[in-house]
Amino acid sequence: MDMLKQAILQKGVVLSDGVLKVDSFLNHQIDPILQVEIGSEFANRFEKNEITKILTIESSGIAPALTTAIKLNVPVVFARKKKSLTLSSNLLTAKVYSFTKNETNEITVSRDFIVEGDKVLIIDDFLANGEAALGLASLVEQTKATVSGIGIVIEKSFQPGRKKLEGAGYRVESLARIASLENNTVRFVEELIV
Ligand code: 5GP
Repeated sequence: MDMLKQAILQKGVVLSDGVLKVDSFLNHQIDPILQVEIGSEFANRFEKNEITKILTIESSGIAPALTTAIKLNVPVVFARKKKSLTLSSNLLTAKVYSFTKNETNEITVSRDFIVEGDKVLIIDDFLANGEAALGLASLVEQTKATVSGIGIVIEKSFQPGRKKLEGAGYRVESLARIASLENNTVRFVEELIV
């Protein structure tokens, strides 16, 4: 997705060989026009999958999940990283290790919102080791709903997340795939044009 790749090249900051900072347009300050484009692109890629619900994780996944949900005309559910006081029973839970924060969170979603027959599209801002996406998928697998696919805004293809998700049988669609962040430079995976 060209608009996203341009934003990464122009505004992304390489913090190390493994971490890209995109907080000026994606996950702190948010560029709404770019988020609308991201939503349209995910909606195009999954339009044939009869998605009934989008599942993401707070907070950075919510913006792209919402713009995708508007296009597909389905609700968004976001997993919480901290237990809500009003949400204490009837929960789906999974443990997720955070790559950037070096901590493990128990993520939760109410069983009321992922239900039998749901075809769930999982959306997240980054794919690194696949922990967040696998945790979200595990919430869905604990119900009689189905994971129809996983949409990622920025995939770091040099980390093992995609391999793990595909190995578990999930379809992964990433809008920007980064081959390397070495030498302070963002290099994208060469996409074959067919
Ligand atoms: P994973 O669970 O796939 O290891 O990591 C995905 C999560 O970690 C994303 O939800 C994202 O918030 C965070 N993350 C992973 N790598 C990066 C990165 O390079 N930059 C930023 N800003 N967040 C990242």
